[in-house]
Amino acid sequence: MIFNGNQLANSILQTLRITSKIKPKLGICLVGDSPASKSYVNRKLKACQEINVDAEVFHFEENVEQDQLIKHIQQMHHDGILVQLPLPLHLNKLDIIHSIPYEKDVDCLHMHNLQRILVYGELCEMLPCTPAAVLQILDYYDVNVIGKRVTMIGRSFLVGLPLSLLLQKRNATVTVCHRETQDLDEQIMNADIVISAAGQPKLVRNVKQGAIVIDVGISQGEKRGKIVGDVDFDNVKNQASIITPVPGGVGPMTVCMLMRNLCNIWKKKQGQPVYINPKLSEAYLND
Ligand code: ADP
Repeated sequence: MIFNGNQLANSILQTLRITSKIKPKLGICLVGDSPASKSYVNRKLKACQEINVDAEVFHFEENVEQDQLIKHIQQMHHDGILVQLPLPLHLNKLDIIHSIPYEKDVDCLHMHNLQRILVYGELCEMLPCTPAAVLQILDYYDVNVIGKRVTMIGRSFLVGLPLSLLLQKRNATVTVCHRETQDLDEQIMNADIVISAAGQPKLVRNVKQGAIVIDVGISQGEKRGKIVGDVDFDNVKNQASIITPVPGGVGPMTVCMLMRNLCNIWKKKQGQPVYINPKLSEAYLND
């Protein structure tokens, strides 16, 4: 089965649509002129339009000073605030993320939120967006991860690290692989579920027959302007039971999870019940 991320994202976005007169407002800080960052920001703006929430983009020069950016963030009155990553190297990413009040941290990258969720296992109205997208895809297919072998390729702050911890919380047996892993192919062949977030084309060439394969990788393909994942799709699609394509797989779901975080921040503010992933709640009760 080939997952259709646009279709599921659109159907979830329908359920998030705001119909009240007063609506949440997202504030986005964009630094520099990277075409990739601009395109991500545009996708976020489009999703905001689709669910009828307001959004405002603040565009800073590539050489903006750290203090100036932080001062700006501290004065933002928006319900959800995010800074588009990556940032130029002269800026301290963590100091900038931590200048966002944690209750407005719609990307869920502030240490307060990550610690609550990943270390203490507290249920929270927010989840980091790409890990949340992967969990949502597994839920869509009703995949039971309890006791399953998951091979997570990549251990980044944005994807591999938080996702590996969330899957442990769901009682999967998780192996984390990275740049220094020596028997990557073996770890991949051993897995019931392979999740790749390394940004290396054709890293995953073969999987166990019937494995579930989630491709979070994004890199430039051989043809200019073409985006490819980490998985050799044409080969692996014949072995996997479920596979996500790039583009059109995890990507659209990630933007959708950002919108869910924003709506949850808003609902919490209004005293309305927020959406919490039911399978996470079950797992969290176990530990
Ligand atoms: P992202 O933030 O999208 O997850 P990063 O570039 O920050 O991407 O992280 C890439 C991750 O992938 C790192 O944890 C790195 O160790 C891992 N990685 C990169 N190349 C390989 C490889 N050839 N084999 C296994 N893991 C890899």
